[in-house]
Amino acid sequence: MKSEVILKQPEVSHKVLRVSPELPSKLIELGATKFYRCFNCGNCTAICPLTEGKVSYPRKLIRYSLLGLEDRILSSAEPWLCYYCGECSDYCPRDAEPGSFMMALRRYLTTKYDWTGLSRLLYFSKKVEVIAIMILAAIVGLLIYFLHGPIVLDRVELETFAPIHIVDTAGLAVFFILATLLITNIYRMYRYVMRDDQGRRIKIPLKFLITDFIKTVPLHFFTQMKFRLCKVWNWINHLIIVYGYAAAFILFVPLLRFTQTNEPFLLVNPLSILGILSTIALIYGASVAIHGRVKKSQPMWRYSHSTDWMFILLLLVTVVTGILVGIFRLIGLPLATYITYSIHLMIVAPFLILEVPFAKWSHLAYRPFAIYFAGLKERFLASRGVMYV
Ligand code: SF4
Ligand code: SF4
Repeated sequence: MKSEVILKQPEVSHKVLRVSPELPSKLIELGATKFYRCFNCGNCTAICPLTEGKVSYPRKLIRYSLLGLEDRILSSAEPWLCYYCGECSDYCPRDAEPGSFMMALRRYLTTKYDWTGLSRLLYFSKKVEVIAIMILAAIVGLLIYFLHGPIVLDRVELETFAPIHIVDTAGLAVFFILATLLITNIYRMYRYVMRDDQGRRIKIPLKFLITDFIKTVPLHFFTQMKFRLCKVWNWINHLIIVYGYAAAFILFVPLLRFTQTNEPFLLVNPLSILGILSTIALIYGASVAIHGRVKKSQPMWRYSHSTDWMFILLLLVTVVTGILVGIFRLIGLPLATYITYSIHLMIVAPFLILEVPFAKWSHLAYRPFAIYFAGLKERFLASRGVMYV
């Protein structure tokens, strides 16, 4: 049955508002378990260190969501401007957890940007998530079983066991598939955001699209500078974890041909140093996340969606198996190296394939693009004397 109701707004001709009655319940499923308690006082917006001028959240987005105004949510980049410091949740007199609401909204938007529908399945069904991981792991396991090279047992020959031309081709294929999925999802995000409150499409001249992209996206990706304003969670901690993820992705996907070698890397090798630093950052990130979520020590860790735990679990297994491969290779245990490396690949593949375009990792791309789109939209609307929405 069609779930959307089309309402004509009487005061403005031709203006339609699409109402999705299921929106609140979907957000509750995604972690906004208490947002219906909100009585619209505005404390959260006043306390949020990142709201400024015309950018005003979370109160406004909570109202839109309670009313089921899905179009207003889709055309807003604001959910991505929040860094989930949780300060608003601490000051909410109704314990409505506006910080968790913003996180749930980002999960919801991730499912809307993804055109394959896989993100929705992953976020709304634990079973699908587990089955998808198992299927991908099994496919990688079978590929290793059928395609591995000779098993040399008198010394470690990782490159011989996992022929580099196959691993390299697979790594590059995964890289291009993930990049394509992510870019198309970002394009859908752009199409959703670039609408005014009448639902009309906003056309941005190419010149501004290019210049603003250059000025905004790399800056916010590499510095995460807006997070400096948050008092609760340390900006540097966040930055270390972001760099750890980014370095691990680059080392493992496009640079795999250089990192999978027969000889263990010397510590002076730049790739080796990058690998060690990225491993330390990932261990640090995983430990902080586990400790915080178990103790519920900060508002952003009070609610954990099943995908959060799955992310941490996959991250930990990836890091541990990666370290073990390094140790076994260094001390010369061929069979242990090959088996652990196979398990490592079986975990890394689903981790990257599912998390980068469809789940948690995607926010690393969505956030700087949201800042870019929000700036463009605000400028365009201001030039026409319209308030930013
Ligand atoms: S502080 Fe709480 S009750 Fe007040 S608007 Fe924000 S979420 Fe609603
Ligand atoms: S979690 Fe932090 S950044 Fe996000 S809305 Fe609340 S106060 Fe603002």
